[in-house]
Amino acid sequence: MLNLVLFGPPGAGKGTQSQHLIEKYGLIHLSTGDLLRNEILQGTELGLEAKKLMDAGMLVPDEVVIGMISNKLDANRDAEGFIFDGFPRTVAQAEALDSLLKSKDSAITVMIALEVNDDELEHRLLLRGKGSGRPDDANPEVIRRRIKEYNDKTAPVAGFYKAQNKFTSISGIGSIHDIFDSISAVIADKA
Ligand code: ADP
Repeated sequence: MLNLVLFGPPGAGKGTQSQHLIEKYGLIHLSTGDLLRNEILQGTELGLEAKKLMDAGMLVPDEVVIGMISNKLDANRDAEGFIFDGFPRTVAQAEALDSLLKSKDSAITVMIALEVNDDELEHRLLLRGKGSGRPDDANPEVIRRRIKEYNDKTAPVAGFYKAQNKFTSISGIGSIHDIFDSISAVIADKA
């Protein structure tokens, strides 16, 4: 199995690159952000609770996202592999993902981090907010809160994969095509 963690701050381009990875490698895309937004659309209790935190730029509780990922892994037993996008976002989530995969005799192949500086991120997110209708993209204060949550809680997840020799990082600035080529080269090397 090819199991990729696509890593990087909000606005780094994880969703865009995921679309290309799905096409090339036939992987199942698991984006916790998309799964949560879907819960909100369906008006579930989970969605209502998550929305308050998401609109404030804060992370939702670990057990909520771990439960969603666990369900998706169970529902896709025959998959060639997965792209984890926006997950794991805390060290506790990374530990939980390792044990979920282990129970299926699988493991993360590699983490690929997209590096983009804070000014460029803020610019991209505000631009995306104009078209996406996402409330968390429209407000500069919420964007800065998300970047702070990332630096405080999510950035340490890189260390978790470094300790397993699974961490790689590439520049997330440049053309979508060039960045995709860099990601493909990492996969060719690691898979
Ligand atoms: P971004 O573009 O900011 O990376 P996502 O679409 O991945 O956004 O996530 C949007 C919001 O959903 C986050 O700000 C957070 O509130 C919540 N969220 C998504 N994934 C997770 C996760 N793994 N753990 C906790 N909260 C999450």
